[in-house]
Amino acid sequence: MTDTIKGFNTKAIHAGSSPDPATGARATPIYQTASYVFENTDHASDLFAGKAFGNIYTRIMNPTQDVLEKRMAELEGGTASLAVASGHAAQFIALHPLLSPGNEFVASNKLYGGSINQFNHSFKKFDWKVRWANANDIDSYKKSVNDKTRAIFVESIANPGGIITDIEPIARVAEDAGIPLIVDNTMATPVLCKPFNHGANIIIHSLTKFLGGQGNSVGGVIVDGGNFDWSKNDKFPDLSQPHPSYHGYKFHETFGEMGISYAVVCRFLALRDLGPAISPFNAFLILNGIETVPLRMKKHSENALEVAKFLKEHDKVSWVNYAGLEDSEYKSLANKYCPNGAGAVFTFGVKGGFDAGVKLVNEVQLFSHLANIGDTKSLIIHPSSTTHSQLTDDEQIAAGAAKDVVRLSVGIEDSEDIIGDLSQALQKV
Ligand SMILES: *Cc1c(COP(=O)(O)O)cnc(C)c1O
Repeated sequence: MTDTIKGFNTKAIHAGSSPDPATGARATPIYQTASYVFENTDHASDLFAGKAFGNIYTRIMNPTQDVLEKRMAELEGGTASLAVASGHAAQFIALHPLLSPGNEFVASNKLYGGSINQFNHSFKKFDWKVRWANANDIDSYKKSVNDKTRAIFVESIANPGGIITDIEPIARVAEDAGIPLIVDNTMATPVLCKPFNHGANIIIHSLTKFLGGQGNSVGGVIVDGGNFDWSKNDKFPDLSQPHPSYHGYKFHETFGEMGISYAVVCRFLALRDLGPAISPFNAFLILNGIETVPLRMKKHSENALEVAKFLKEHDKVSWVNYAGLEDSEYKSLANKYCPNGAGAVFTFGVKGGFDAGVKLVNEVQLFSHLANIGDTKSLIIHPSSTTHSQLTDDEQIAAGAAKDVVRLSVGIEDSEDIIGDLSQALQKV
């Protein structure tokens, strides 16, 4: 892509791609290969010594994946990115270069449920400790940071929706502590929120959701903001010190000027050794999804606002938690961080509690009852009887999954049909 292209819509379609040099194919080909022939023995040893960049083996890189990575780096305004097998793999690979056994990180307590599990249980086995902060209470982030802390992790639009994170003051807490701020931008996508403009250092995504957009493939990505000095303290030895598993390389010294040292370490240490590579086929499907993400996010947000307004007026609905509504406590943060719309995912309370929630889910026809978000199709779930059913009543309430809570991911069908379906189902409740 030429440097004259500046527009977001254009980048969503062209960034990172060009007609295939070997065949002229206009669509990015699926390079379904595990490995790549070296030009000669010098070329091979340069690749292994890190003296030249190039394809070696698809666990580490693949040309279809490469286009996806360039496109995501452009759309987020980062320097480089790394695509991996899932959103959860992105979180794991993103933290691995930063944390050693005994280290800690601070996370917002309003996160995707799977992330809460990953942080509380699976990461504990590496002796990585998560400290939970109150989503928008800046003091609670400050109090949770100590000399073992290596990162702060938040979501831009936080699960289960309706919550917008005040990124800037949290970024200042991270900066004062000499550690990076990682933002999970899955629910917003770069169409609605640009975390690097607000002080984030690393962005991760589940590509499974709005970026892929059609619920057909799982993937994740880590984007390097190129705006963190990994050598300014001794907290990040994988980046600042000679690395024993990579020719004694000092990654930040070698790649710091290009602003890509963190992305390089994620690929050549974490992904190389831990292995959750994205399949070329999934990279291809997600790339095709990204071409239309600006159009889709606009429509998702417009529909969600209309549905939220409809529900707010409905006599069987007790509350609606959507940051796009004028009277939402998050409306001013939404104006600041998500000026193009507050996204598609939100929760509301149905009068009649557990039984009413179950009944509503059973009566919808257009909505699909499933545990995903970010599809073109409208999706519904009753967390208390499904994703959060293993929790106690108090834990359900703390997680925003009380008995009356219903979560929607509003699709891009005609809003009249979406509202019509909810209307007929609510009548039967
Ligand atoms: C789905 C999701 C994840 C996990 O992504 P997978 O692709 O399912 O592994 C992480 N964060 C958020 C906000 C999500 O919605």
